[in-house]
Amino acid sequence: MDTITLNNGVVMPQLGFGVWQIPDDEAEKAVATALEAGYRSIDTAKLYYNEEGVGRALRVSGIPRDEFFVTTKLWNDEHEYDKALRAFDASMERLGLDVLDLYLIHWPVPSRGRYAEAWKALEKLYADGRVRAIGVSNFTIETLRRLFDETGVVPALNQVELHPQFPQRELRAFHAEHGIVTEAWSPLGQGRGLLDLPELADIAAKYGKSPAQVVLRWHLQIGNVVIPKSVTPSRIAENIDVFDFELSAADMAAVDALGNGRRLGPDPAVFDWMG
Ligand code: NAD
Repeated sequence: MDTITLNNGVVMPQLGFGVWQIPDDEAEKAVATALEAGYRSIDTAKLYYNEEGVGRALRVSGIPRDEFFVTTKLWNDEHEYDKALRAFDASMERLGLDVLDLYLIHWPVPSRGRYAEAWKALEKLYADGRVRAIGVSNFTIETLRRLFDETGVVPALNQVELHPQFPQRELRAFHAEHGIVTEAWSPLGQGRGLLDLPELADIAAKYGKSPAQVVLRWHLQIGNVVIPKSVTPSRIAENIDVFDFELSAADMAAVDALGNGRRLGPDPAVFDWMG
């Protein structure tokens, strides 16, 4: 398993397991399957309503605490200093953990304009040793700049929608310039149209791999952290079996050429859903 080092020296697995849309009573089984397959990083959020199932799977696994990495996220209606601190405590209670590995602001909600206040709470949690690294999700260049200006602190990581059809080139370049790790959500394009493209089937056939594995390999080779999701054991295993081959420069360019600029999820510049 390859790793990525964050700007504060914390090391995280480059590939993890996403659990969005897995109900709590199924999350324990799915996470247990992922841990069995070798995953050591789990991406959840308050809004996924499955932190308890994730926590149960981690406890039952018996894997030592320093061998797995857990990310969770602060929800949109909690962008207030005290509320954010309480939300963190509640997430930790559900997960059954003392120290979290990575805490993210889930969306910036620019129309509300309180993410810098939420960020101050994350800084406090970090200073108190309750979380090993802090970052953001769905931040644009504009909201990142405002965060730098108002707080002077650069997030360790920004988790954003990113897949070959929506490659976020400009944002990735901005991250690289500022030492922010790029983490890709919906890395497989949610399994919709992307994985059926004949271009990917052609590349996959050359390496004896699947289109999903080619896409994940593309992410790893451009330096992204990826968190593919599946509840199907064979796919969970397939999605981590991507460390024994390397795409050639020509095949990387062919995957790059699939970009169409279309998002699958909401536009973070205007998204203000409170849940
Ligand atoms: P994804 O791109 O990981 O796609 C998952 C879907 O692809 C599965 O439900 C399945 O239908 C299909 N699939 C998975 N493996 C496959 C395989 N090997 N072959 C064929 N099809 C396969 O989509 P996602 O779940 O949206 O994103 C992954 C994770 O990112 C989420 O679980 C969550 O943790 C995170 N996420 C974060 C945000 C955010 O706002 N921060 C938003 C969306 C997702």
